Amino acid sequence: MTNHEELDDKLKQYRSGNLEISSLSSWVKDNSNIISTLLSRTAFLKLKQRNPTKALIERLGSGCNCNDIFKEGHFDSRSDYDQCESKINNAKSLGILSNIQEPSWVNSPKGEIGAAGFYCCQSCGGLWKILLPERASSGSWSRIA
Ligand SMILES: [Zn+2]
Repeated sequence: MTNHEELDDKLKQYRSGNLEISSLSSWVKDNSNIISTLLSRTAFLKLKQRNPTKALIERLGSGCNCNDIFKEGHFDSRSDYDQCESKINNAKSLGILSNIQEPSWVNSPKGEIGAAGFYCCQSCGGLWKILLPERASSGSWSRIA
Protein backbone atom coordinates (compact mmCIF):
# COMPACT_ATOMS: atom_id res chain seq x y z
CA MET A 1 0.00 0.00 0.00
CA THR A 2 1.27 3.49 -0.77
CA ASN A 3 1.13 6.17 1.91
CA HIS A 4 -1.84 7.75 0.19
CA GLU A 5 -3.71 4.48 0.12
CA GLU A 6 -2.93 3.72 3.72
CA LEU A 7 -4.18 7.11 4.89
CA ASP A 8 -7.36 6.79 2.82
CA ASP A 9 -7.89 3.29 4.15
CA LYS A 10 -7.61 4.47 7.78
CA LEU A 11 -10.00 7.36 7.11
CA LYS A 12 -12.51 5.01 5.48
CA GLN A 13 -12.31 2.62 8.44
CA TYR A 14 -12.96 5.53 10.75
CA ARG A 15 -15.86 6.80 8.63
CA SER A 16 -17.54 3.42 8.69
CA GLY A 17 -17.18 3.18 12.48
CA ASN A 18 -14.51 0.44 12.46
CA LEU A 19 -11.70 2.56 13.88
CA GLU A 20 -11.79 4.61 17.06
CA ILE A 21 -10.73 8.24 16.91
CA SER A 22 -8.06 7.53 19.54
CA SER A 23 -6.47 4.84 17.33
CA LEU A 24 -6.70 7.06 14.28
CA SER A 25 -5.08 10.06 15.94
CA SER A 26 -2.30 8.02 17.53
CA TRP A 27 -1.56 6.40 14.15
CA VAL A 28 -1.40 9.91 12.67
CA LYS A 29 0.97 11.07 15.42
CA ASP A 30 3.24 8.04 14.89
CA ASN A 31 3.40 8.76 11.16
CA SER A 32 3.19 12.52 11.26
CA ASN A 33 6.21 13.07 9.00
CA ILE A 34 4.44 11.30 6.17
CA ILE A 35 0.84 12.25 6.90
CA SER A 36 1.68 15.96 7.09
CA THR A 37 2.73 15.83 3.42
CA LEU A 38 -0.55 14.27 2.33
CA LEU A 39 -2.93 16.84 3.81
CA SER A 40 -3.27 20.59 4.03
CA ARG A 41 -1.78 22.00 7.21
CA THR A 42 -5.18 22.73 8.74
CA ALA A 43 -6.57 19.28 7.96
CA PHE A 44 -3.45 17.65 9.38
CA LEU A 45 -3.48 19.65 12.63
CA LYS A 46 -7.19 19.08 13.15
CA LEU A 47 -6.77 15.38 12.52
CA LYS A 48 -4.04 15.20 15.17
CA GLN A 49 -6.42 16.99 17.54
CA ARG A 50 -9.05 14.28 16.92
CA ASN A 51 -11.14 16.32 14.51
CA PRO A 52 -10.93 14.41 11.22
CA THR A 53 -13.77 16.06 9.29
CA LYS A 54 -11.52 18.25 7.17
CA ALA A 55 -9.12 15.39 6.41
CA LEU A 56 -12.01 13.10 5.45
CA ILE A 57 -13.44 15.63 3.04
CA GLU A 58 -10.04 16.55 1.63
CA ARG A 59 -8.97 12.95 1.01
CA LEU A 60 -12.27 11.23 0.25
CA GLY A 61 -14.65 14.00 -0.69
CA SER A 62 -13.97 14.86 -4.31
CA GLY A 63 -14.74 13.46 -7.70
CA CYS A 64 -18.14 11.99 -6.93
CA ASN A 65 -21.47 13.18 -8.26
CA CYS A 66 -22.95 13.25 -4.76
CA ASN A 67 -21.25 16.67 -4.62
CA ASP A 68 -23.69 17.87 -7.27
CA ILE A 69 -26.94 16.89 -5.57
CA PHE A 70 -27.32 20.31 -4.00
CA LYS A 71 -24.97 23.17 -3.21
CA GLU A 72 -23.49 22.95 0.26
CA GLY A 73 -24.17 25.45 2.98
CA HIS A 74 -27.04 27.21 4.72
CA PHE A 75 -30.32 27.44 2.89
CA ASP A 76 -31.26 30.94 1.72
CA SER A 77 -34.97 30.35 2.10
CA ARG A 78 -37.66 27.82 2.77
CA SER A 79 -37.93 27.09 -0.95
CA ASP A 80 -34.19 26.44 -1.07
CA TYR A 81 -34.73 23.80 1.60
CA ASP A 82 -37.71 22.34 -0.28
CA GLN A 83 -35.59 22.06 -3.43
CA CYS A 84 -32.80 20.35 -1.54
CA GLU A 85 -35.24 17.89 0.00
CA SER A 86 -36.67 17.00 -3.40
CA LYS A 87 -33.16 16.53 -4.83
CA ILE A 88 -32.36 14.22 -1.92
CA ASN A 89 -35.53 12.22 -2.49
CA ASN A 90 -34.69 11.97 -6.15
CA ALA A 91 -31.16 10.78 -5.34
CA LYS A 92 -32.63 8.20 -2.95
CA SER A 93 -35.02 6.87 -5.58
CA LEU A 94 -32.09 6.53 -8.00
CA GLY A 95 -30.09 4.62 -5.40
CA ILE A 96 -27.45 7.34 -5.11
CA LEU A 97 -28.13 8.14 -1.46
CA SER A 98 -29.49 6.06 1.36
CA ASN A 99 -30.72 7.06 4.81
CA ILE A 100 -28.45 6.25 7.71
CA GLN A 101 -28.49 6.76 11.46
CA GLU A 102 -26.43 9.63 12.81
CA PRO A 103 -22.84 8.32 12.90
CA SER A 104 -21.72 7.89 16.52
CA TRP A 105 -18.68 10.09 15.98
CA VAL A 106 -20.53 13.14 14.69
CA ASN A 107 -20.16 16.15 16.96
CA SER A 108 -22.83 18.66 16.15
CA PRO A 109 -21.64 22.23 16.54
CA LYS A 110 -22.62 23.84 19.82
CA GLY A 111 -25.83 25.80 19.61
CA GLU A 112 -27.05 23.94 16.54
CA ILE A 113 -30.80 23.54 16.70
CA GLY A 114 -33.27 21.59 14.68
CA ALA A 115 -33.65 18.01 13.55
CA ALA A 116 -31.15 16.50 11.14
CA GLY A 117 -31.13 13.72 8.58
CA PHE A 118 -28.09 11.70 7.54
CA TYR A 119 -27.33 10.05 4.22
CA CYS A 120 -24.63 7.86 2.77
CA CYS A 121 -23.52 8.02 -0.87
CA GLN A 122 -23.69 4.56 -2.40
CA SER A 123 -20.88 5.35 -4.77
CA CYS A 124 -18.07 6.92 -2.69
CA GLY A 125 -19.28 6.23 0.86
CA GLY A 126 -19.43 9.96 1.61
CA LEU A 127 -21.71 11.07 4.41
CA TRP A 128 -24.13 13.97 4.16
CA LYS A 129 -26.26 15.84 6.62
CA ILE A 130 -29.37 17.94 6.19
CA LEU A 131 -30.28 20.27 9.01
CA LEU A 132 -33.97 21.11 8.94
CA PRO A 133 -35.06 24.75 9.21
CA GLU A 134 -36.29 25.74 12.63
CA ARG A 135 -37.14 29.20 13.92
CA ALA A 136 -33.89 31.19 13.76
CA SER A 137 -32.05 28.59 11.71
CA SER A 138 -32.55 28.32 7.97
CA GLY A 139 -31.18 24.79 7.87
CA SER A 140 -28.30 23.51 5.77
CA TRP A 141 -26.92 20.78 3.56
CA SER A 142 -23.35 19.66 4.13
CA ARG A 143 -20.89 16.90 3.61
CA ILE A 144 -19.64 15.60 6.94
CA ALA A 145 -17.23 12.93 5.72
ZN1 LIG B 1 -20.41 10.18 -3.50
